[in-house]
Amino acid sequence: PTIRELLAVGEKSFSFEFFPPKTDKGMQSLWRTIRHLEALRPTFVSVTYGAGGGTRDKTVDIVERIATDTTLTPVAHFTAVNHSTAELRHLIGRFAGVGVRNILALRGDPPGDPMGEWVKHPQGVEYAGELVRMIRSYGDFCVGVAAFPYKHPRSAGIEDDTRHFVAKCRAGADYAITQMFFRAEDYFRLRDRVAAAGCDIPIIPGIMPVTKISTIERSEQLSGAPFPPEVAARFEAVADDPEAVRRLGVEHAAELCQELLDQDAPGIHFITFNQSPATREVYGLLNVEPRSASLTV
Ligand code: FAD
Repeated sequence: PTIRELLAVGEKSFSFEFFPPKTDKGMQSLWRTIRHLEALRPTFVSVTYGAGGGTRDKTVDIVERIATDTTLTPVAHFTAVNHSTAELRHLIGRFAGVGVRNILALRGDPPGDPMGEWVKHPQGVEYAGELVRMIRSYGDFCVGVAAFPYKHPRSAGIEDDTRHFVAKCRAGADYAITQMFFRAEDYFRLRDRVAAAGCDIPIIPGIMPVTKISTIERSEQLSGAPFPPEVAARFEAVADDPEAVRRLGVEHAAELCQELLDQDAPGIHFITFNQSPATREVYGLLNVEPRSASLTV
């Protein structure tokens, strides 16, 4: 099924994000995680697309194996970095060839330094919206896009960011997934400004439970904003005890997800870093209905 169809049913969507590991050991661990999370019958799972090198092919391999060997619906992340339009078209054909019809269309960041200068491939595309249009021109793909609660770091301001986001949706996106954030109201503000601009696309919150104090320190890099000080204070109180930090991270993520779901977020997209325990614990704390059996593939 497409994510569009799954979201249209009106049940909350739950999904998990993985990245293609570089080593065989990493791959075995990813597959253990996939098998554990499969038991939760998520709406979909997604696999990120690397900046270059061998992991890009691995994204195609992993989504293919998910499509053929599991009961899960895979979404392939796909970026425009260093690809000509001919290569982009070829890769879209490869996704179709392995039975993957759900793509998250992204511009991507410059390889090496994500904040370095963005240089379009001379025969490539400049913005994600162009990639959305290209994928939709093939007909039966379902396309997701990225949304940024604190605006994209390259956007001049919130208004520009919203305008470009809405244009990207109108290019043919079916839904969006947000960059991670740690405070529900930041998501509601994004949703409200997109709705005020006349766009009602489902925006799925991207959530990553804090499992280590270093996540808080890297918050700005990961989410685009400093970690909320009122939440940081709760973590600082237990900073010397890694297990207590992890427990609080699970509890905080569950509170955040519940608030989002209670206020009509269409679901939750968990960034797992290929590990299942924290995500499973957060999911276990949520007050959610099991998915209808008729919705599984
Ligand atoms: P765009 O929508 O193209 O936006 C980029 C900038 O250009 C923004 O400032 C935007 O406002 C502006 N803009 C857009 N359209 C126009 C226009 N027509 N005219 C002028 N300005 C415009 N990266 C990876 O490499 N691999 C992944 O798998 C991956 N997965 C991600 C998943 C999620 C859920 C998210 C939120 C991000 C992910 N990223 C991934 C990171 C993403 O590629 C970067 O954040 C990238 O810098 C922005 O991508 P985008 O698709 O939002 O770009």
